[in-house]
This record gives sequence, C-alpha cells and structure tokens, in this order.
Amino acid sequence: MLVLGPDGDDASAWVPVNSCLVLVHALEGQEIVTAEGLGSPEALHPVQASLAEAGGSQCGYCTPGFVCSMAAEFYRAGRVPPEEPDGGHREHGPNGFDLHALSGNLCRCTGYRPIRDAAYALGMPDPADALAERRFRSAPGPAPADRVVDGSRFVRPAGLDETLRLLRDEPEATVIAGATDWGVEVNLRGRRAALAVMIDRLPELRALAFREDVIEIGAALTLSEIEGRLAGRVPLLAELVPQFASRLIRNSATIGGNLGTASPIGDAAPALLALDARVVLTSLDGDREVELAEYFSGYRETVRRTDELIRAVRIPLPLASVTAFHKIAKRRFDDISSVAIAFALDLDGGVVTDARIGLGGVAATPLRARATEQRLIGEPWDIATVRAASAVLGSEGTPMSDHRASADYRALMLSNSLLKLYSAGAGAAERKVVTA
Ligand SMILES: Cc1cc2nc3c(=O)[nH]c(=O)nc-3n(C[C@H](O)[C@H](O)[C@H](O)COP(=O)(O)OP(=O)(O)OC[C@H]3O[C@@H](n4cnc5c(N)ncnc54)[C@H](O)[C@@H]3O)c2cc1C
Repeated sequence: MLVLGPDGDDASAWVPVNSCLVLVHALEGQEIVTAEGLGSPEALHPVQASLAEAGGSQCGYCTPGFVCSMAAEFYRAGRVPPEEPDGGHREHGPNGFDLHALSGNLCRCTGYRPIRDAAYALGMPDPADALAERRFRSAPGPAPADRVVDGSRFVRPAGLDETLRLLRDEPEATVIAGATDWGVEVNLRGRRAALAVMIDRLPELRALAFREDVIEIGAALTLSEIEGRLAGRVPLLAELVPQFASRLIRNSATIGGNLGTASPIGDAAPALLALDARVVLTSLDGDREVELAEYFSGYRETVRRTDELIRAVRIPLPLASVTAFHKIAKRRFDDISSVAIAFALDLDGGVVTDARIGLGGVAATPLRARATEQRLIGEPWDIATVRAASAVLGSEGTPMSDHRASADYRALMLSNSLLKLYSAGAGAAERKVVTA
C-alpha cells in the first residue's frame, strides 16, 4: 500500500510499505491508497495499464505489491530521465525509473522482464492526476488512538510524556515502531500484545542532528529516512543501508527497532559498534547513555528497562578514515545476514592507530572483535599484519551452525573479510600514501 508521508515541511510523498506488516490502527488519521484504490477495471491507473500491456501479471498474487511499489516510483518527485545511460546496468529506465524501487516484491511466475518493461514504459504523471497533485500539500500528522480489539489494546500516545508514563505503569506493554519485526511475530507466530504502544511518530525520537563532536540519530527514524538525511556523510551507514532488507522494509524499519530486537543477526549493531555508538535510553527519570557494546546483555536481552525507550543513537566524531560493511548472506538483497562485519580503522603514516570491528551472526549478541583490534593497533597496515590479524578474526566469537551457515563457514568468512578489506582498496589506498 501507499502511505502519504512528509516530504519537507509543505510537501508529501507516497511511500510504499508492506501492508501485511502494518497494524491497522497505526494508520488512523493517515491517507493511504491500496492497489484497488489506484484504478478500476474501467479506468486503470497508468501503472496497472502498463503492467497489463507488457504482460506483467500472471497468477496475480504478487501484482498488488508490484502495482503499489511501481506507483510510488511513478510519483517520486526526483524521478527524471537520466542524462546519460546507466552504463548498461539497466537499473534505471529511460524514464528515470529506479528498478530497486520494486525490490522486496517477489514474482514466481510472470518473470521480472515484463514487469521491468512495464516500469520502463511509464511516462510522467498527468498534472491533473489527483495523487500527483496531492504531493504539493503536507501529509496529515498521526492521530492519537486508544482502541481495544479482541481484548488487545492499541495506543498511539499523544506525546513522549504520555508514552513514558504508560511504560512505567504497564511494564508488560509492547513498544512498536515500524512493526517490521513485530508484524512477523503477529502474522507468522500468532503473537498478540495485550498492550501495543506505537512510538514511531514521536518527534523526540525522530531528530537527526550533527553537532561538533557527535551525530545523533533518532531511534524512530526509518532506514530510508536516515539514508536520505545523512546523504552519504557516514560512509559506513551509506554502505550498510542498501544491503538492509528491501526498500519496502526500509521505509518502515527503524534503527531503534533494529537495536530493540537485540537480534545477534541485526545489521545495524555491527556497524554502530564499529562507529563506537552509544544508545540514549529515556524514561521519566530522564536520559541515560549506554555504550552499545554494553547494551547487549545476552541472547536477545539488553540492559534497557521496561520503562525505558531507545530515544537515539549517538556516533562520536570524527569518523574513522577507513570503513567498510561486509554482509554475507545467501542473496545479495533482501536477506538476513549469515555474518556481518563492520570495520572502522584509523591509519597514520601506514600504521593502524585505531581499530574497531563490529560483528554480527557469530555469537549470542553482536560484539566487538577486541582481540583482532588489539592485533592491528600499532602495526603497519600491510599484508603481513592483515594475514596475522585475519587469523585472529577467524577465531572471534562462538559461531554456530544453523540453516543459514555452518560454524566453519562463518569463521572462514570472518577471517576472509579482513583480507577482502585490504585487497579491495583500503590497502591499496594506504600503499599509495606510504609510497608517495
Ligand atoms: C522481509 C524482511 C527483511 C528483513 N531484513 C533485514 C535485514 O536485512 N537486516 C536486519 O537487520 N533486519 C532485517 N529485518 C528485520 C527488521 O526489519 C529490523 O529489525 C528493523 O530494524 C526493525 O525495526 P522496526 O521499527 O520495524 O521494529 P519493530 O518491529 O517495531 O520492533 C522490534 C522490536 O524493537 C522494540 N523497539 C522498537 N523501537 C524501540 C525503541 N525506540 N525503544 C525500545 N524498543 C524498541 C520493539 O518493542 C520490538 O521488540 C527484516 C525484516 C523483514 C520482515
């Protein structure tokens, strides 16, 4: 479905999200459009007409999702025909359509080629198109709500204070942000919250600020919003975001929710560990700051109290000069990590002066590769050091075998990743500096 979201102060954008992961009362007061609302059999929407003409629908199971994702890209304000062809990658159409807009929609019978043809054949929206025109006015804010359905209570509090009082008085409450994790629990595992407290639109959790010595990222910002607002200024996060799920998920999934799950295979934690991030927890008692490395206390457990919310993450500045995020998964996009490794190294005159390495998928919690870091610091950044340190990296954590990967494979991926970092340019760049 498409949800009207803010695009600056006075404008809005149609944002595609997975409707199966949305709690219906979270949409109170919002403007939404489903595939059925885009057009009718008598008057197809341009996207629906294009899909029909290109033969882009067969069994029809995936079609509503493709239609909505395609419509969102059809209406994207920044979509303009590229000045130059995209070098044969064919990820952008002649009409500026970004093929990644469709990721997260899986087709198992039509085949992707006719779907892509339909997308690339689209023109620009007619100025009189009601949904195109709607973008030039602001989107409605979220409406506070308090509903009981089948014995489960859903609350969208009016503000942070009310939220924190609710969490203090109702320790069993379930905090929900983007619901991309919680929605799966509901859909596939049949879980229901006695009290669900929606926090995704609290302004205090949605700021992104650059200060002299720190970048603060609000916990309820989605991965898509973070990508847009950082605009590449944290290269490690810029590398991570496109590898995180699909754009559909990233439009809802928040960074606070990723840390809230405390999953050992969540992707944000390794990157934030390498960035030396701190978590800001807030309650009626005020804020407290916890080092991310100290935040995880066990398998899916954290030091967060039930009356606390993650309000933000803080990344100290300056950033390390060499960073990289390696995600090893079975598919390039839209898959959970088997292993994730994030590097943040400082080099000076060819010597490693600081090293932080965050790991996911190799222990009950995300963790820092402390032994490898120590092996690197003070050493020349050359292949001998890298070989020695990669052997140490391969022995970090306590990897296990599961349906994603064997323990041996995970250990091998760890040690290979440092060699990959070195050979993929970080080493070459430093060698140039050293020999210049
Ligand atoms: C198809 C699919 C693909 C996915 N791919 C990836 C992937 O590639 N990488 C990855 O890391 N994850 C992935 N995920 C998991 C999920 O999208 C992320 O974990 C996401 O960041 C969760 O954020 P959310 O806002 O949706 O959290 P929610 O589902 O709303 O909440 C998750 C948990 O965090 C808690 N929580 C949320 N916000 C806060 C807060 N501010 N303070 C305290 N607790 C809070 C909730 O109580 C809940 O326990 C995927 C999920 C799906 C369905």
